Formats: sequence, structure tokens, C-alpha cells
Amino acid sequence: MLQSNTAKNPLSYVDPQPDSPWQTYLSQVDRVVPYLGPLAHWADTLRRPKRALIVDVPIEMDDGSVRHFEGFRVQHNLSRGPGKGGVRFHPMVTLEEVMALSAWMTVKNAAVGLPFGGAKGGVRVEPRELSRKELERLTRRYTSEIGIVIGPQQDIPAPDVNTNPQIMAWMMDTYSMNIGGTATGVVTGKPIPLGGSLGRVKATGRGVFVTGREAARRIGLPLQGARVAIQGFGNVGSTAAELFAAVGARVVAVQDHTGAIYKEAGLAVGALQTHVAVHGGVAGFEAAQPIAVDSFWEVPCEILIPAALEGQLTEARARTTTARLVLEGANGPTLPGADDILNDRGVLVVPDVICNAGGVTVSYFEWVQDFSSFFWSEDEINARLETILGNAFAQILDTADRLKISLRTAAFVVACERVLQARAERGLYP
Ligand code: NAD
Repeated sequence: MLQSNTAKNPLSYVDPQPDSPWQTYLSQVDRVVPYLGPLAHWADTLRRPKRALIVDVPIEMDDGSVRHFEGFRVQHNLSRGPGKGGVRFHPMVTLEEVMALSAWMTVKNAAVGLPFGGAKGGVRVEPRELSRKELERLTRRYTSEIGIVIGPQQDIPAPDVNTNPQIMAWMMDTYSMNIGGTATGVVTGKPIPLGGSLGRVKATGRGVFVTGREAARRIGLPLQGARVAIQGFGNVGSTAAELFAAVGARVVAVQDHTGAIYKEAGLAVGALQTHVAVHGGVAGFEAAQPIAVDSFWEVPCEILIPAALEGQLTEARARTTTARLVLEGANGPTLPGADDILNDRGVLVVPDVICNAGGVTVSYFEWVQDFSSFFWSEDEINARLETILGNAFAQILDTADRLKISLRTAAFVVACERVLQARAERGLYP
């Protein structure tokens, strides 16, 4: 069944374009509402962020000039707990994109059962053009500007595209300086000596692997020898590659912002990670064949892992992919029309809100460990991650089977029931 991506937007301050992330999210909400029963009464809560902060981030550049950057922090919903969601540094960041990403965090946190609402932040910047000092000044000023809405009990940022443990350390330090204490629990994804958690760096990719392994079992796809194509070879994509390769799958193609590469026998993942660390991207990796960026979507594979940005899996790409399984490492990579095509073609899509939830799950562990100042072993963390994610995914599979709906709509059903139940029970203030 094809449905156009034109869900109604109730807000005056954004004008979402067809296929934009916020429009995609609104379409997903429209699809879940018929399954919400009496809770549908509260559905408009899902269609608007609770709070959206736009900040100016002026910094002094190394040459003495001053540049201004746009920054955002959006708290989509706080009904179930403090806001939780990453911070993205990217030249295409917009308020509307951050709104969508924050809304997907609401759904993700509720789908997994974590005691958080949904939030997200971003700065419209190409961080590769900044020196390390400029990047630190940008991070610190941005943190100060959003300091009025974040905090260990208010809203807890984490890494996302182009942000990492070092940036989280600067955020934690800046917030701490401003309140006159040391608030380790204000961000997650920190370096280990600053209250970070073991296992956090690889947690998102590990979650992609764990949910992917269960989904592969469901469709009778052996991982041994399965061909995997991955878009994005950063934190999420490279860890997923490593874990799939470790069980005998072949990572045959990788595409990132620098280009696309292919090797039928399977890429040497460790060597590619080293190459990317040195050269900044996959282009130029000698032990593979360079391919045109667009032909990445047509390489023969059983598993496709979009792990870069939103809106990448278009209708055209959904028609031509040979994958039997799509694992959404990225947030919002599949457009609603493409979702329908994949569904009609019998391709199983494990949606972002469960597939990439490993990161926020270990972020939750980090936050808990920081509060208790008692730290767990990596084995404990990985075991708890597998249990929580495995149980959440099983519940979504059951819901999909019971209601005969896609895994994405099932994940939204599970999550939105929890969010709106909390909304209904808390009531309206005043
Ligand atoms: P990252 O910065 O570590 O890596 C991003 C990757 O995307 C890089 O390989 C980059 O080259 C690639 N990329 C960027 N623009 C591209 C383009 N136009 N075409 C192709 N590739 C492009 O980021 P990450 O943390 O790995 O995040 C990737 C995705 O996973 C994002 O959608 C993010 O929201 C999502 N995610 C991340 C986490 C986390 O814990 N880091 C958690 C949940 C979801």
C-alpha cells in the first residue's frame, strides 16, 4: 500500500518539505494513530515539540575574526522522564531536522522502556573546517547557551554525527563550571575517566548487530557468508561492520561522505577502520574497488545498513536494492514511500527506533552509574544491553504479528502507548 508523505503539519514555525525528516516523522505518527484506541485523544502531543531553543553561537576564530553559528536544542516530549538525545555538528542541521531527531528519541526511549523523554541538539557547522581550539570554543559556547535547558535531571545530551567523547568532556566541563560543581551526569558518551561507561562507544553498532541477528533468524537468513552493504563508516557503521564480520558475514560495500568502495570477497574491516582514522573516509582504500556513489545502493547484498544520515533510502533505491533485511543504524534513513515499497517486496526493515537504540541504552547505564558513582564491568554492560534490547525487540515483533503491521508501526505503537499513557496520567498543568 503506497501512502504519500504529506501528513499535516500543525506548526507555523516550520514549513516541512515532502520527504523532510519532520514530514517523515509526521507520516509515521499518522500511521500509528489508528492503533492507539482512546489514547489517540492525546495524539497531537506527538505532533509538536514541547520546547525548542534556538541559540546564536558566536566564536572567535584563530585568525581573530568572529563567526556566528546556529545552534538548537529541542525537547520533543518529557512525559516519561528527562530529555535524552545526541548533539549533531553538521552543515545541514536545521531546526526542523533537530525536531524530527528529538521526536524519534521520544519514540526510541519509550520503545525500549528507558525512563527518558526525547530531545536532540545540533549546530549548523562543518566541524572539519575548524581547528581543535575553534571546535572547543564552539562546543563550550553552545553548551553555555543551551545550559538553561539541560542538566542531569532536565535533559542529557550525548554524541551524534561528528561529535564524540572529547566533545562530551568539553560539554560536561562547561556545564560544571557554570554551576560551580562537577556534574558528570549532564552528558553521556564521556571519556571513561570522566564518568563515561565501558561499552558506550560501540553500543549503537552492537545494538544494530543484536537486533539484526534476531531479525535474520526470523527470516531464516544465516549470517555466515551473508553480504552486508553499509552506508556510513563512523561510530555506528564501523562497529556494525566489525561485529557482522566477526560472525562470518562479508561486508562487501561501504559508502561514506568521501566515496564508495566494493569487494565481493568482503572488506578487511580492521584495515578499513585504520584507513578511515588516517584519511578521514573510505575513499582511497586500496584493498577494494572504488564504485560510483549511486551504485552502492545496487550492490548485491542480503543486509543493507544505512548508518549515515536521514532520507537516504528513497523509493527508487527501495525498488532496486537486493537486500532481504534493512537495519536502520541511522535515524530516519528510510522515506515513508520507500518503507511501503520494501514492505511490499518482502524486505524486513528493523526501524531506527529499536535498531540503533543500543547507544541510548548504554547512555542510560552511564547516567545510572554516574548517579551512584558505582561502575559496572564491560561484560555486565554488554549482557544488560543484549537483555534489554532483545526483550524490547521481541515485544515489537509480537505487536507486529498481532496487529499485522510493519515493525516500524509496531515500535511506534509500543512507544506511543507508553508516552501517551504517561501524558494522560500526568494530566494537563495548570
Ligand atoms: P559519525 O559522525 O561517527 O559517522 C557518520 C558517517 O556518515 C561517516 O562515515 C560519514 O562519512 C557518513 N556520512 C556523512 N554524510 C554522508 C553523506 N552525505 N553520504 C554518505 N555518508 C555520509 O556518526 P554516527 O554516530 O556513526 O551516526 C551515524 C547515524 O547513526 C546518524 O544518523 C546518527 O543519528 C545515528 N545514531 C548514532 C548514535 C551514536 O551513538 N553515535 C546513536 C543512535 C543513532
